[in-house]
Amino acid sequence: MKTHRSSRADHRTRARVTRALAWGLVAAPLLTGRAAQVIVEHQPEDPSLPPFAFRRVPDPSATDTATRAAFRLLQGEADDNSGPLTVLHDGRIPTGPDEPQANFFFAAGTEGGRILVDFGRPALLRYISTYSRHPNTRGPQVYTLHGARDEEPGFRQPADGRNPSEHEGWTLIATVDTRPRTGPPGGRYGVLITNTEGAIGPFRYLLFDIRPTERDDPFGNTFFSEVDAVSVDPGFVPTPPAEPAGPEPFTVRTPDGRFAFTLDLSRAPELEPWIRQKLVPVILEWYPKLTEMLAVEGVEPPDHVRLVFRPGRGVAATSGTRIVANSRWIERERDGEAVGAIVHELVHVIQQYGRRPRSSAPPPGWLVEGIPDYLRWFVFEPQSHGADLVWLRRQRSPRLQHDAGYRISANFLDWVVRRHDPDLVRHLNAALRLGRYGPSFWKERTGHTLEELAETWRRETEQALAQP
Ligand SMILES: [Zn+2]
Repeated sequence: MKTHRSSRADHRTRARVTRALAWGLVAAPLLTGRAAQVIVEHQPEDPSLPPFAFRRVPDPSATDTATRAAFRLLQGEADDNSGPLTVLHDGRIPTGPDEPQANFFFAAGTEGGRILVDFGRPALLRYISTYSRHPNTRGPQVYTLHGARDEEPGFRQPADGRNPSEHEGWTLIATVDTRPRTGPPGGRYGVLITNTEGAIGPFRYLLFDIRPTERDDPFGNTFFSEVDAVSVDPGFVPTPPAEPAGPEPFTVRTPDGRFAFTLDLSRAPELEPWIRQKLVPVILEWYPKLTEMLAVEGVEPPDHVRLVFRPGRGVAATSGTRIVANSRWIERERDGEAVGAIVHELVHVIQQYGRRPRSSAPPPGWLVEGIPDYLRWFVFEPQSHGADLVWLRRQRSPRLQHDAGYRISANFLDWVVRRHDPDLVRHLNAALRLGRYGPSFWKERTGHTLEELAETWRRETEQALAQP
């Protein structure tokens, strides 16, 4: 019996428990027609209180049924600072209020994602509980929980954006939103999903569809500390199928040994032939070329680049020397834009503008993106006509402003290169990398201000577009 003063706020009445579970297929009469119940407890950070010790929500367990279940990311991307999914079912809880590695959370600025729990066969569950901890808006939990009994005919894992209930075999168990109506959102949260009169049902799969708690800034994805599921039968042992092991990451080097590239496709094994045959030769040929085109005196270009291919959102993103590409998009664009998109990201790796002197002004966004798109569309693959006049003609009333978009900026840079300065991009990159870029750059290199150049480019481009 717990006697401490936990849970100042027991938000039970707030918890939105919606749908009665329809157990038409389940023979056991004690399961029919009962709704799951959701109990939420919020414990603000208080050093005098033991963490995660709630009044009604059980303590996190290291021996529950979920401990030996398989946890898989079905949709969304983990944050680079997040712990692995295993932290959700190892029974260990964070010891401090802000411990990224002891929690699992989705990438900053993303819309959350879906986590699938697989017991291998149906488990009659007594309760499910979830725990989270963060000093601010990443403390509360916002998710829906669905369950599926087993892989019956028509069964699919809901990896797309649709509501899981629209997929054959899936039932809504509970809707959880622990955001307090008033008061600070930080602290520890415990959620108990149970049924007052019996089990909440036999499920082989649980699906957590998780949303950010706020969108005012990119940091709204909850720090989840633990997920427990406890079966009625204490002897139940989950038997999830072993994960099909993807290929190990491998490293390729340029012939001179100067540059190395590690490619991780453990979560996108289907891309292996394309990566080895189409992408790797381009990387080995073009990365050294790009470093030449963007050479900066006294600065060594990164000599080891890591490329990770995995299902995600968007196209690709680079932080430091690490490129993460959405394998689903790459798969769709393997004969289209995929290779060029990676070339664009390689330019970001070389730019390293984040390492410019601290006192210098941040580089303008249109140049950070305009330079990679210039090198991609006008140097690497001019035959694709991705940003030139051919492309402009295909746009409905393109906005001819030099900073109006990646490809428009690339078009503008190409014009300045051809008209005024074949060496523009190397100098521009050096100025940005060394923190020396400013309005005078254009006048010094071309004899004209940026405004003058932009205006002449716009006029000439309009004339060219007007001609048939
Ligand atoms: Zn970019």
